[in-house]
Amino acid sequence: MNEAEKNEVPSFTIEQFYKFLSEKKLMAAQCKECGAKFLPPRPVCTNCYSRNLAWIQVETRGELVTYTIIYVAPQRFQPFIPYAYGIVELENGLRLPGMIRNIEHNNIRIGMKLELVVESTATEDWPQWPIYYFKPLEQ
Ligand SMILES: [Zn+2]
Repeated sequence: MNEAEKNEVPSFTIEQFYKFLSEKKLMAAQCKECGAKFLPPRPVCTNCYSRNLAWIQVETRGELVTYTIIYVAPQRFQPFIPYAYGIVELENGLRLPGMIRNIEHNNIRIGMKLELVVESTATEDWPQWPIYYFKPLEQ
């Protein structure tokens, strides 16, 4: 890595989003022009088309907005079938979809508090995307 790269803001890509996740940081992009926030991040603000963005760290707790039980899944998720997949509203109204685990499906409720868990992947090799899911927030 040269000097110029060191001072550069990490690019607003899905790869960088997962790289932060592997460091247990949930990061969104915020537009410096209009304040719009994006999770996962986008390289261009879809509100004002600015490329003047900043990384912001987001709280990893939120409330379940909606969910569904998945019976047919992509290969990667087949070991988990059937599983619950929902959308969780985090602070600032940011929403992140993800699997819901560590709970009986019958006990899942809209509005329940969940927190994000990041699982380290088996190897240290990059790019190896970490797996994340939501679990009930311990009271
Ligand atoms: Zn903007």
